[in-house]
Amino acid sequence: MIKVLNYINGSYCEPISGKWLDNYNPSNGEVYSKIAKSEARDIEQAYVAAKEAFKSWSNTTIDERSRIMLKIADLIEDNLLKLANAEAMDNGKPLSLALTVDIPRASSNFRFFANAITQFSSEAHESVGLNTMNFTLRQPIGVVGCISPWNLPLYLFTWKIAPAIAAGNTVVAKPSEVTPMTAFLLGEICTKAGLPKGVLNIVHGEGPTAGQAIIEHPEIKAISFTGGTKTGEHIARTAAPMFKKLSLELGGKNPNLIFADCDYDKMLAVTVRSSFANQGQICLCGSRIFVEKPIYEKFKKDFVAKVKELKVGDPFEASSNIGALVSKSHMEKVQSYIKLAEEEGGKILYGGKRVTVKGLENGYYLEPTIVEVYDDQCRVNQEEIFGPVVTIMPFEREEEALKMANSVKYGLSSTLWTTNINRTMRMSKKLEVGIVWVNTWLNRDLRTPFGGTKNSGVGREGGFEALRFFTEAKNVCIAY
Ligand code: NAD
Repeated sequence: MIKVLNYINGSYCEPISGKWLDNYNPSNGEVYSKIAKSEARDIEQAYVAAKEAFKSWSNTTIDERSRIMLKIADLIEDNLLKLANAEAMDNGKPLSLALTVDIPRASSNFRFFANAITQFSSEAHESVGLNTMNFTLRQPIGVVGCISPWNLPLYLFTWKIAPAIAAGNTVVAKPSEVTPMTAFLLGEICTKAGLPKGVLNIVHGEGPTAGQAIIEHPEIKAISFTGGTKTGEHIARTAAPMFKKLSLELGGKNPNLIFADCDYDKMLAVTVRSSFANQGQICLCGSRIFVEKPIYEKFKKDFVAKVKELKVGDPFEASSNIGALVSKSHMEKVQSYIKLAEEEGGKILYGGKRVTVKGLENGYYLEPTIVEVYDDQCRVNQEEIFGPVVTIMPFEREEEALKMANSVKYGLSSTLWTTNINRTMRMSKKLEVGIVWVNTWLNRDLRTPFGGTKNSGVGREGGFEALRFFTEAKNVCIAY
């Protein structure tokens, strides 16, 4: 059975405890590999390697760092099929999605930050009339911690690591214990690309042990975390009193606001995707759909008809649109929300049941589920489900739609469907979110700020925002 080993100081190694976790294949419910069950001692080993590597990596020229990162990007592309297969097997997502979204984006993350660092600059401020010149040094922080979730495994793991190392830091990183396989494979790619040993250390294991050891390590001065809001709260409570720099990308309950003046066909096609891509397990999925009254009944009928066409099945079958949910416990959580939806008086317009796939009877498959709700304050409309479940309800006025969109504790993204430019501007200013998509969804330019407001997080990733996060600004003031 494959062993998912730690990658520390440029080599693969077993966990010091000699203990292992089971790694499940969600498409058939079987254990197919073992994962290093690391603890504080392993994190310390990784930290020591990272600290040593920092001395030279922080002084490596930008050209050299960039060149190595471009090589990593190329090697990810060269290994597209192998990595996509590993991702689909580990996560349950359709192979077609891993091939077209997850792995290409992991490669783009390295390529983007390999280029971005060559364009990154700091400011200078001349104090005119005072014979003083100030300039800002942007120095790498040192050893930083990167912790990522299971939904877009290699995509989100590399989204943190790439800017961290581009800026001259060295890294102790932990992928989710639910989907560690592609992070494991990244180690050999880094070695092949010539990344010096110790620059990136990948440690596997559970959040409360391995992850906890990263966030409470006194010498790891910055933590970049993507995951659930509850975990984010815990990380903030632990790391803030230690004055660590924190970037927290957390949960969402994103509104999808559909106005009668939208480009209907485009809206319908994209809304199916924004509801159920990756089994609805994308923090940016539009899980609350609000539709303007005049087109509500038509939308309801057309949306249900389109969703009925989606095929739930084996992630490795080209015809599958929806694969397996990531784990049994997650599937059960999603099922509990479907039950709750009914208890709260919601009407299941489509789906709601577990799907049995022939030959894969123990896989974690659920039907895409549409719930019509009558009160936007009900729990299924307020709490993050993070699965193939969306709610729909009508609205009459723009202000009403805006009020409902903002009446949640989350504030990650929103999607607006309208061809009215004045409404676009009004709504974009008033939506309490970090990202507004208008007539599109998951349309990403990596230079743009990425992140959430309210309980969806603190800080922004992407472009120079990420490079600013992973550097410490120091002002040098010279009088002459
Ligand atoms: P999670 O919070 O359970 O786990 C995320 C990571 O944190 C894992 O690697 C886990 O091992 C680690 N962890 C858990 N406890 C820890 C601790 N005490 N100390 C340090 N690390 C710890 O989240 P998940 O279930 O893997 O992912 C789903 C969540 O992630 C959803 O809420 C989703 O919205 C969110 N998410 C947000 C974004 C975003 O960009 N805002 C993107 C993807 C997913």
